[in-house]
Amino acid sequence: MRRKKNRALVIMIFALVLAVFCVASLIIHMVSSSPEVEEARNAAEEVEQQEAEEEAAAEAKQEKIADEKSQWYLILVNEWNAIPDDFEVETVEIEDGYVADVRISEALNEMLADCRAAGYSPRIVSTFRTRETQQYLYDHTANKADTAVPGHSEHECGLAADIIDVDSIGWSDPLIDEQEDMPTQKWLMEHCQDYGFILRYPKDKEEITGIIYEPWHYRYVGKEHAAIIMSNGLCLEEYLRDMETYYDPE
Ligand SMILES: [Zn+2]
Repeated sequence: MRRKKNRALVIMIFALVLAVFCVASLIIHMVSSSPEVEEARNAAEEVEQQEAEEEAAAEAKQEKIADEKSQWYLILVNEWNAIPDDFEVETVEIEDGYVADVRISEALNEMLADCRAAGYSPRIVSTFRTRETQQYLYDHTANKADTAVPGHSEHECGLAADIIDVDSIGWSDPLIDEQEDMPTQKWLMEHCQDYGFILRYPKDKEEITGIIYEPWHYRYVGKEHAAIIMSNGLCLEEYLRDMETYYDPE
């Protein structure tokens, strides 16, 4: 008798548990298929997808920046960065016997021609220098602090040009701060980025570039980068350091 009662109790409990389980499942199903839950789920999926897309875009940007930084036109040469031993320069004459890297000749010629067409008088006083020339200059300068150590001069890359105003040729030394007041120089500083050049050693950046203010030294970096560098008042070192902030590869 007692055993039968027990069995009935077990069956009842089992049935009760089953009933509770069924009801709970039904409620869960009803709740989870409600429009609100559906909406929340879609929203979460959308956020997830958006995050994945953003991550992919950030990764692509990093890759593009790394790729740009490895291009010849963004090479960084300064006191702390020597020209790589395998860096080769193929030069072509620009004018007056001055030669530059063949890859920048068109841009440099165009800049000089447009400057002259605007009524100014630019004169190249230095472009590509061989290691030997840089060594000679370094050995014979009275001011070693202002002369790049051989292997560390941008002129050895063939990507830079020192340009002055013809009217300053008579000065005892045309390569001084006053060059910035010359009309030709003003034009060059305002338009150089249109041809892919930057004023490489700006004022107040001496500690970062390691070079004094040089309102005559123009360096080719390509139009896209030149526009960003010049409009933000940067030097090349700052730009390469913070490229992620300034450069948007589109
Ligand atoms: Zn120079």
